[in-house]
Amino acid sequence: MKELSEFCRNLKKDFTPKTRDPAKPVRCWSEKDVLNNDDVVDTFVIIFRTRGCSWALNSGCSMCGYFNDSMWKTVTDTDLLKQFDTMMESYSDQKFVKIFNSGSFLDDNEVKPGVRNKILHRIFETAEKVSVESRPEYITNSRLSEIKKISKSKIFEIGVGLETANDFIREQAINKGFTFQDYKKATEKLKKQGFKLKTYVLIKPPFLTEKKSIEDAEGTVEKIKTIADTISFNPTNIQRNTLVDYLWYRKQYRPAWLWSVVEILKQSKKTTKDVRIKCDVVGGGSIRGAHNCKACDHKFLDTIADFSLHQDTKVFNKLECECYDKWQDLLDVEDIGFGSIIEI
Ligand code: SF4
Ligand SMILES: [Zn+2]
Repeated sequence: MKELSEFCRNLKKDFTPKTRDPAKPVRCWSEKDVLNNDDVVDTFVIIFRTRGCSWALNSGCSMCGYFNDSMWKTVTDTDLLKQFDTMMESYSDQKFVKIFNSGSFLDDNEVKPGVRNKILHRIFETAEKVSVESRPEYITNSRLSEIKKISKSKIFEIGVGLETANDFIREQAINKGFTFQDYKKATEKLKKQGFKLKTYVLIKPPFLTEKKSIEDAEGTVEKIKTIADTISFNPTNIQRNTLVDYLWYRKQYRPAWLWSVVEILKQSKKTTKDVRIKCDVVGGGSIRGAHNCKACDHKFLDTIADFSLHQDTKVFNKLECECYDKWQDLLDVEDIGFGSIIEI
């Protein structure tokens, strides 16, 4: 939608990026994740600072504030490789490495092919699995075959932020800039190379009620359960200088309830067989992230993290709190009071 696109662009009009050293990465750390099937291993996570997501620099998705951390100007190949070297000083041969760059690792404007190849070569010397992220338009046969020459028989995973299988919501509420068909075409290409697909699904895009957003997430799982190897849910968190931030300040948006997140995870696991279902609740438990009533937030977050690793929905049975009734009431009445019952 032109208006939404324009609005997201205008929000960034007066934004001045912080002055940062382009040779310094965002950060890196080690965490637990799944290598293959149920094999939980130490995983090395690295985050590059690039010039920024090309789509964000154009207008950007309505909930994404990654551009706040981007350089907004060219980061040279030398700087990117310096960032890489710095992060690799903390690398201790973890078998799984996740690469993030708050944009698309396969976008040549963010990471040039030569740099991309060098990074992958180095990591695949020791790692068994590497995961990156990309918008569908950069997932081309030529880039994929380049990578295949490096990854060989090891596992290469691409995460694509589909957000929803519903084109209307993706266009009118998220301003994602691609269609479900674009996503499907890209996934066919990467499947042909034997690569794994992680699909990100957004929980609670702006303008949707809590109930509609649960239905949308569950409907999306139905449509992608034969395509994605992993479905990773991202409950919207309120990042600065975004449309969601704009609405939140005006009391026209509340991040998802953790009850809704749990509901979606339980239902998704029930309707999928071999798909890994996971959820990373960024900012969970805070007013800017998915939350319940404060008293139960930590218990919920720990349980969601546990489920994401081990895939056992039984862990959710122990969750209980007085705020359950409030959440249920909200689902019942929000359609008639939308815009006036952000916090009850
Ligand atoms: S969500 Fe992804 S595609 Fe959208 S603006 Fe952010 S980094 Fe770019
Ligand atoms: Zn509670």
